[in-house]
Amino acid sequence: MKTWALHMDEYLDEVLRLEGHGSTSISSTCGGCGTADPTFRCSRQMCYGPGLFCKKCIMEKHSVLPTHWVEEWNGSFFQRRSLHSLGLVMQLGHPPGYSCTNSTPAHVHFTVIDVTGVHPVRVRFCNCDSRVEHRQQLMRVCWWPATARDPQTCATFAVVRLFQIMNCLGNLSAHDFLRSLELLTNNDGLDSFPMGDTDTDLLLESSPRFQTHRAPISNNLDDETSGTRPCTVRDRGNRTVAVRCRACPQDGRNLPQGSQNINWAAMPEDLRCVRRFRSKRAY
Ligand SMILES: [Zn+2]
Ligand SMILES: [Zn+2]
Ligand SMILES: [Zn+2]
Ligand SMILES: [Zn+2]
Repeated sequence: MKTWALHMDEYLDEVLRLEGHGSTSISSTCGGCGTADPTFRCSRQMCYGPGLFCKKCIMEKHSVLPTHWVEEWNGSFFQRRSLHSLGLVMQLGHPPGYSCTNSTPAHVHFTVIDVTGVHPVRVRFCNCDSRVEHRQQLMRVCWWPATARDPQTCATFAVVRLFQIMNCLGNLSAHDFLRSLELLTNNDGLDSFPMGDTDTDLLLESSPRFQTHRAPISNNLDDETSGTRPCTVRDRGNRTVAVRCRACPQDGRNLPQGSQNINWAAMPEDLRCVRRFRSKRAY
């Protein structure tokens, strides 16, 4: 603390410096194409680097990052802009950069919830292969659809995973988690918030479902290594869709292989203790 106090002013200057336009060496020409007087940057340097970019280059940099915020220098300060408002369109069903000649637009108020906040995103579904449903196209880019039919809201797998951990370890409720994302999105309340009350349900429902679908894969690594083997949840049978308790004694996992045959009474005292400790934690 004493060491930091010596540099307190420097820390403050550096934080305030980020609010400004920056030195002319990095802000007078676009970091992508070199044109003069660029005005855009990625908010909080989610894309690494302090440089400024022209509109074309910032859009190119974010063609596959629709949940970043960008900021535009308006002459006095950086004003936050959404990539949606700058015209970014996400085309599903094809590799990035490819257009689809047989696409349909998603709902006009399509919303994606991510760890950076809640974003309006312009999405186009691909109809090249009628067997691939819209919800499947979303899941193939790691967006969990709120509804199976005609989805209009998604949560990224990253935000669902974050909520799972925060909920399990931090006892954070879905309501408080969404409230935090709301503040991340719109801390000053000046912009309308692109999310409804029902989105709490999305996190509450997607989190266990997400776990349910991942659990069999992680439990049966031997026979479903890649998770690509055709196997439905129903095919998996009883007691396969569950998370194994890490504390319970399990042969070959936290106990030596063939541990049932071990004569524990003949084991050294310290090794017996490990087993008793693990068993106690389980109950
Ligand atoms: Zn440029
Ligand atoms: Zn970015
Ligand atoms: Zn297509
Ligand atoms: Zn257990």
